[in-house]
Amino acid sequence: MANQHLVPNIAPAPQKALLCPSAQPDMEGARVLGVISGSAEQSQVAYLNSNVPVTAGLLAAAAPLKPTEVFRFAAHCEENKCRHFDGSHCQLATRIVQILPAVTDGLPPCLIRAECRWFQQEGKAACMRCPQVVTESYEPDEDFKRAALGQAIP
Ligand code: SF4
Repeated sequence: MANQHLVPNIAPAPQKALLCPSAQPDMEGARVLGVISGSAEQSQVAYLNSNVPVTAGLLAAAAPLKPTEVFRFAAHCEENKCRHFDGSHCQLATRIVQILPAVTDGLPPCLIRAECRWFQQEGKAACMRCPQVVTESYEPDEDFKRAALGQAIP
């Protein structure tokens, strides 16, 4: 009875859900992270400075390209439903940091940093490589393929 006041009577706050910064537009909680520009060989993401949800009109605006060729999407990290998740870490983020070169010196002006799985796991090193990532690329170079697929390139 004497120690009763020391026992917390509220449940611990649930851990904040993290966002995947290279998501598909049909994933839960999807929003536009940025707009892709440049060439197939050298793409660059311009991060949006406002929260833009995914709508049918926005997806249609990408035609004739696929939405993932025009936009980068963020959405709730699917963790164990995703082939890149090993139970505790996103291996895609790990490979990106290990294989791809940094393309910026500082942190890109990105709105999701506080919730980003890649940033939470890899820190600034992920952000310095993030702008070159295109979720769907038809002409990836060898390093990009190794980072995306996690396979040795013959
Ligand atoms: S810039 Fe950094 S925080 Fe923003 S989506 Fe990319 S890895 Fe995540």
